[in-house]
Amino acid sequence: MSEINNDLTLFNELVEVLLNEEQKNPVADRIDSEKLYDSIDLSLNDTAMVDEKFKEVLKEVLISTPKTATNLFFNQLFGGRQSKAVLGDLLAVMLNNSMYTYKVAGPQVGIEQEIIRRSCDLIGYGKQSNGTFPTGGSMSNYMALVMARDAKDPSCRTKGMTQALIIYTSAESHYSNAKNASFAGIGRDNIRYIPADLEGKMIASKLEEQIIKDLADGFIPTYVNCTAGTTVLGAFDPINELADITEKYDIWLHVDGAYSGSVIFSDKYKHLVKGIERSNSFSYNAHKMIGTPMTCSIILVRDKKQLHDSFNNEADYLYQTDGDDFNLGKTSFQCGRRNDALKFWTLWKSVGTKGLEEIVDHQFELADVAREYVRNNSDYTFYSYDDSISICFNYKNVDPMALCTALYERQVTVVGFGSFNDDTFIRLVTINATNSKEDILNFFNVLEEFVENNPSLKQL
Ligand SMILES: *Cc1c(COP(=O)(O)O)cnc(C)c1O
Repeated sequence: MSEINNDLTLFNELVEVLLNEEQKNPVADRIDSEKLYDSIDLSLNDTAMVDEKFKEVLKEVLISTPKTATNLFFNQLFGGRQSKAVLGDLLAVMLNNSMYTYKVAGPQVGIEQEIIRRSCDLIGYGKQSNGTFPTGGSMSNYMALVMARDAKDPSCRTKGMTQALIIYTSAESHYSNAKNASFAGIGRDNIRYIPADLEGKMIASKLEEQIIKDLADGFIPTYVNCTAGTTVLGAFDPINELADITEKYDIWLHVDGAYSGSVIFSDKYKHLVKGIERSNSFSYNAHKMIGTPMTCSIILVRDKKQLHDSFNNEADYLYQTDGDDFNLGKTSFQCGRRNDALKFWTLWKSVGTKGLEEIVDHQFELADVAREYVRNNSDYTFYSYDDSISICFNYKNVDPMALCTALYERQVTVVGFGSFNDDTFIRLVTINATNSKEDILNFFNVLEEFVENNPSLKQL
């Protein structure tokens, strides 16, 4: 057998170890960060390692790495493990293409374009639309900002920034907006954070007030970043109300759907992004709600010319055959680009759009189960809202930071905390569609039992 055959056999063996371990220990054996280098042999040495020892080290690494797909992992936005997507990603690794040219990627170009085309159809972008697969939601926001900047002031592309362009986002939006403002030459001081209402949604009237003020002060309103699923509360900004304003003042509207933009697949929940077809660009992360492996982020642009204008560059050594529509490097940020499309395509192809809809609907069902449990139990204080898969609460006034940390350090369950206005709370996300209602109820049982057994936990 060739080396690759041997290693794939080893791979299967290691995956067995991993899956058994996940069953037995849904929360990984945690290594204290201070003891990491003394606990596992991570050292790289001059001499080769014998196969048996190599295998043992790999097993140790697998066992002690956090398990993001289990039924006791609720930290950040991991959508579990959709196995047809895992299959696609493993194949992408074996193929090892780069998405920049048809010459190198062949049918993978069509696979990526089919996902983009179908996604554009779902949100009602017209024939001129297209998109690409950036490295994640932060990069999607960045690409949108660069297109907005270039659309407002095309000379930025050649001369650099000469005018005070201003961008707007909600106080609840993702932190990448601040970094992107600095990367794009806009400057962090030129972001206006628009207040959110009590449910975490951007207040459209406050946006317009700020735009009017900026215009009076001689600034140039350029870009509005609207969130579909804010990182903490999972709130949806009102797209139609914001679009009324961005159309009136000729400002780019981007909808950041990294967290919850996948509602576009659900007949029942797509009303949460009503008006999406009026945006200039929209992004969503299939590695969040859809549950593909990291990373799988898609940005769609209503007018593909703007994507091309901002990201195209001639390169004779690279683009040697086929037209621009097949050489996807003409609309991407990077040169070599990983094939993130295949894993989404294998999943979508195998379960159909209906199957993706079921994933999304199930997450909201699980959220309803969790919300009902919290609301009907007087030991809990509830901080979040309907139409979200983030369920925010505190239990018996226990300090959420102390509780989350203790749950993690004792390997009970992994869950995070968040803040909104003056409150800090535990944030449970029902984003793993492979979980059942029982898994969600079990989470609460586990948490309650832990609090009973640890009366010394700090109170709020
Ligand atoms: C997760 C998230 C992002 C960032 O996406 P990455 O893929 O982690 O870079 C951006 N915006 C929102 C609303 C998010 O939830």
